Amino acid sequence: MAKALLTHSTPAVSKATTAAAPPEGHRSGRAGWLRAAVLGSDDAIVSTASLMIGVAAASASKRAILVAGVAGLVAGSMSMAVGEYVSVSSQRDAEQADIALETGELANQPDAELEELAMIYEGRGLDHDLATQVAVQLSAHDRLGAHLQDELGIKPSSLARPLQAAWISAASFASFAIIPLAALLVAPATLQIPVIAVVSLAGLAALGAFGGHLGGAPRGRAALRVFIDRAHNPFKS
Ligand SMILES: [Zn+2]
Repeated sequence: MAKALLTHSTPAVSKATTAAAPPEGHRSGRAGWLRAAVLGSDDAIVSTASLMIGVAAASASKRAILVAGVAGLVAGSMSMAVGEYVSVSSQRDAEQADIALETGELANQPDAELEELAMIYEGRGLDHDLATQVAVQLSAHDRLGAHLQDELGIKPSSLARPLQAAWISAASFASFAIIPLAALLVAPATLQIPVIAVVSLAGLAALGAFGGHLGGAPRGRAALRVFIDRAHNPFKS
């Protein structure tokens, strides 16, 4: 019994310690939607601009370039939404499976689970009595929540949201794909390609700076990173 408990608990302890402690400044809570937004938006600028420049290079009419850009906007938004939905759904499925398993364990072996929770706090540096006391009190408050958070590293308040991720990436793709489209609308007929290219690159740099600002990274460096990365490898996703 004791041995079984120990082998069950050991990986849980290491899992809990690796999942603990967000970095100072507490920006990590934004990581989910920030990732979805930035991923969709720099892709939007690059792929829409590339498509439009390609069509423009074939000496197409302004109307044809515009149609190509709008088609790219629609296709890209839908593909981003589907991709995000599938990837975040699989993350959510894994979380739900963990929650179901933990709920079952709590129902079937409450004593072992309490001891397991106490051992996690002991592993973080509390002495045995205090760890037991903390485990008992947290269990009285929200037993499943305490296990999810400290044993599995799942925060009940920030579970994966597939639909939210899908909407955010589709919306951000669509709104940033407008940048090269707007550039086309204001460009003089002879300068369509350079204007689309320059405005798009400026948009990428601004986006990098904004993403870096939200994520807490130095703005200049973040802008430069997106700019250089995209300028030298535009089809990376
Ligand atoms: Zn547990």
